[in-house]
Amino acid sequence: MAPERNGSKLEDLCAAKGLRMTDHRRVIARVLDAADDHPDVEELYRRASEIDPRISIATVYRTLKLFEDAGVIERHDFGEGRARYETAPEEHHDHLIDLRSGEVIEFANEEIEALQAAIAAKLGYRLVGHRLELYGVRLDSTDEGE
Ligand SMILES: [Zn+2]
Repeated sequence: MAPERNGSKLEDLCAAKGLRMTDHRRVIARVLDAADDHPDVEELYRRASEIDPRISIATVYRTLKLFEDAGVIERHDFGEGRARYETAPEEHHDHLIDLRSGEVIEFANEEIEALQAAIAAKLGYRLVGHRLELYGVRLDSTDEGE
């Protein structure tokens, strides 16, 4: 577990957006903040109920929707048929998804960022956002598994 702090970054973001924070919302916010693996709803529910078994999966769904609408978390669709979540990052990053393990690797690349802006400009646009997902299998992995 991450060291206990007085509130999490996500809780601060929620406070800044004026969201009313119930105990359950706080737990879910802390679980999201502690996660670095872009968990899905089921996994968030599992982790949240370890902290507070009274939390229902419906509460997790509702809270994620609330957080997403407030712009304090990001929802990703990595083509697995399930949404995955992370606290809205302070600095932009993109994702590489390991198709075998489902692991999500974060990266940022200035050349890609510049290239995207250049493409948008060439088409007559100012770039205000993008999504980039790379899907791959490890070069050292074999089809036989481990
Ligand atoms: Zn990420």
